[in-house]
Amino acid sequence: MSKIIAREEIKGIKPYTLGKSLKEIKTDYNLQVIRKMSDNENVYGCSPHVREVISENLNEIFYYPDGTTSTLISKLAKFYNVQESQFIIGNGSEEMIRLLTRAYIRHGDEAIMADITFPRYETNVVIEGGQPIKVPLNNGTHNLDEMFEAITEKTKMVFVCNPNNPTGTIVGKEELLHFIKRVPENIIVVVDEAYYEYVMTDDYLETLPLLEQFPNLIVLRTFSKIYGLAGLRVGYGIMAEAIVKELVKVKDVFNVNHLAQHAASVALDDQGFIEECARKNAEERVYVSKALTALGMQVFTSETNFLFVCSKKPVVTLLMEKGFIVRGLQIAGWAEAFRMTLGTRKDNDAFIETIGQLLKESVV
Ligand SMILES: *Cc1c(COP(=O)(O)O)cnc(C)c1O
Repeated sequence: MSKIIAREEIKGIKPYTLGKSLKEIKTDYNLQVIRKMSDNENVYGCSPHVREVISENLNEIFYYPDGTTSTLISKLAKFYNVQESQFIIGNGSEEMIRLLTRAYIRHGDEAIMADITFPRYETNVVIEGGQPIKVPLNNGTHNLDEMFEAITEKTKMVFVCNPNNPTGTIVGKEELLHFIKRVPENIIVVVDEAYYEYVMTDDYLETLPLLEQFPNLIVLRTFSKIYGLAGLRVGYGIMAEAIVKELVKVKDVFNVNHLAQHAASVALDDQGFIEECARKNAEERVYVSKALTALGMQVFTSETNFLFVCSKKPVVTLLMEKGFIVRGLQIAGWAEAFRMTLGTRKDNDAFIETIGQLLKESVV
């Protein structure tokens, strides 16, 4: 036992499990090809212009980056037609979550979130000594009525992950609007839209036009998912200027690195690439959902680049042995559940064939 005592708040926190490295899996199972379908990265990569802008800027990396991320903010503001003062850029949107809890969660404050959802909400609330209040999903979807009922005097923040990770589902347009209208204005409503660009349904609430009317509303988006820049770490929040001012106080001065800022700027310009990825992904989403359903699995309706699959037989480890890395999760009533990132048609065909074989072979 170490004599150096860490803060009481972080005692119960389990480090995020990253699983085996791809290298380890390759050697352990003697595999030639590995398909990483576990982290919802863009299988089509990123805009080809990103590589160019990174090489052009390599000679400047001895300078500190722009601490105000002004070029990127100005581009985003034009792109969305929102004031520049309403943006803050983070080292991934994960950092945005941390800045929010750092600035607003005090000891004993409650933060409401779905169960299950993106795990970083809970962790960051706990780090600040807050109390996560977890409201079970209803058939894979946020139960906004129950989340509203969970509001108390102590509630400071509510997280709505829309679409939700890991289930891929969205909440209906009217339902979310009704919720935002009902939440008292002293409680922050964080709508995490990491998969915004993948959404195809019309029943999806556009939150940016609501910012003016609801100064307690915060929208989070990222360059890690459809923009394909997960390795560079750029995410952002859009919100009332008054909240941006508080978050800036708790952020690191140079939180977004030089190359990442340039990469995100040119990636934003290449909307052709984004539309193409969204279109291809939507086709694969329907294709794989149908195939897995036909194999007797339950698949939630996804608006993202991943599927949440419930299986009557355990398959996650068997899939790994065949070179398909998915994220295993437990869900009541099923032998196993997993989240799989959609691949190219070739990846997906190989996946469907392999899982079909595994189901035939397994005698459980
Ligand atoms: C991936 C993801 C993020 C974090 O993205 P970064 O910008 O890479 O930090 C945030 N929220 C959800 C729901 C995600 O799935």
